[in-house]
Amino acid sequence: MKNICYESTSKCNLACPYCISSDNGTLIQDNYQAIINFIGKLHPERVVIGGGEPLLDPLLKEKIQMLIDKYQENGREPYISLSTSGACEISEDMWQFLKERIQCFDISIPSLNSDTYKLMRGKDFLNQALINTKKAVEYGLNVRISIVMTKQNVSELADILMFAERIKANSVRVGRYFPFRNANAVRDIYELEETEVQQIIQDKVEKT
Ligand code: SF4
Repeated sequence: MKNICYESTSKCNLACPYCISSDNGTLIQDNYQAIINFIGKLHPERVVIGGGEPLLDPLLKEKIQMLIDKYQENGREPYISLSTSGACEISEDMWQFLKERIQCFDISIPSLNSDTYKLMRGKDFLNQALINTKKAVEYGLNVRISIVMTKQNVSELADILMFAERIKANSVRVGRYFPFRNANAVRDIYELEETEVQQIIQDKVEKT
């Protein structure tokens, strides 16, 4: 198996109108040991820990360590990617912990403009997300910036790519808006036309 996405918490401090995690209901945490055991048995190549916002999960460290231990019991090492909005303060202790244990810090930044960020995230935590992106680079983490292209931020792709280059992020993942579950209700506001998606792909292929 290649990938498993593990939702560590349903808590989030943002309010993206297209959030698909928010219609999962409230996550019950008392079976996380069984879930992590199961992931360890399947030992996928990559485990993506997301949410909600995983950095708001008080059990995050315990879960990451447990996952590593499960892999190591069988002589393996997991590839752990933490999928975060970066929209919360991260303690020095947590940075040190992550630096030593995760293989990818995947931070989602839909815009570098506060108004657009708020339109997409429901709240303006742009500054905090940028601080954390730069700190992750400083700490030597493998930093991936993720951006989902929508009608609201389509003009900003070049700026985000330049920002990533300037701060020396390791990679940028560009995704498209996928209108399912909650996201379907607001697709008119966010979803790009297929021709616009193809144009973005064409532009980037021509420039690389
Ligand atoms: S960052 Fe947005 S999309 Fe992600 S869990 Fe929070 S509200 Fe949902």
